[in-house]
Amino acid sequence: MLKQKKIWFILLLLILSIGAGTSFFIGKKTPSASHQQSNPIKKNHPSTPKKAIQKNKALSEKKIDSSHWQSFKGETEFPILMYHSISVGNSLRIPEAQFAHQMQWLQKNGYHTLTPAEAIEVFKTHKKPANKIVWITFGDGYKDNYEKAYPALKKYHKKATINYITNHFGHKNKLTIPQMNEMRQSGLVTIESHTVHHKELNQMTDAQQTFEFVDSKKWLNDKFHQQTSIICYPVGRFNDQTPKLAQAAGYELGLTTLPGLANENQGLFTLHRVRISPDLSDVTYQYLLEHGM
Ligand SMILES: [Zn+2]
Repeated sequence: MLKQKKIWFILLLLILSIGAGTSFFIGKKTPSASHQQSNPIKKNHPSTPKKAIQKNKALSEKKIDSSHWQSFKGETEFPILMYHSISVGNSLRIPEAQFAHQMQWLQKNGYHTLTPAEAIEVFKTHKKPANKIVWITFGDGYKDNYEKAYPALKKYHKKATINYITNHFGHKNKLTIPQMNEMRQSGLVTIESHTVHHKELNQMTDAQQTFEFVDSKKWLNDKFHQQTSIICYPVGRFNDQTPKLAQAAGYELGLTTLPGLANENQGLFTLHRVRISPDLSDVTYQYLLEHGM
């Protein structure tokens, strides 16, 4: 009798250990299959384990308290300024002194500079934190954003968002992790996504676009322990699929280079921006902030 019990017990142990072994094997197999770049859609969220989702929630930005914000009538509309390099040489580069002067101008004229979380909240709530609002964005993540723009942001306490190309990490003229962390920790700068490769999205398949969105987001989330929520399309190119693919990848707003003030009727994933060129007079700068182009 005792012997029979012993045999049953050994059998039970055997079944349990086979079961554990199999689930270990399956568990190992799934993530490695999902890392294959040939099918990047697999990297998307449906197969994300519960644990990872909880971790992402914990990473999300601090909740914005918009209870004291002012409601406004009419459409949600405000300027999203588009800067790139703070240097000289072409029509996209703004000299350091001109950038500093513009930050001072925003200060003097009572502009509140939005964080990405605040911009999202403005669209969601139809309320704003100040009468005059503007969202300052930088494309590409140039090192001069740290060396030449950040001092002016600090001096005039203005906030900005840098859209970083994750595959450009390590390039000598692009921002380093310590530089980005220093700026982030000041509370003045947020790092968001400008895709992995900075290639034209309208030339890509849906799967390739999804890879650009998901992989850059994951890289930024991991590096900065954040929930990346803004996607800026390289050279402003996108197609009909882009907005829904960006949304499916977990972003909340998508930025184009279409000129003009951002307006909710454009769609939250095809927002327009105001291009800043060098040598603008104060009058023109003000005009652009108020009219977009
Ligand atoms: Zn760019």
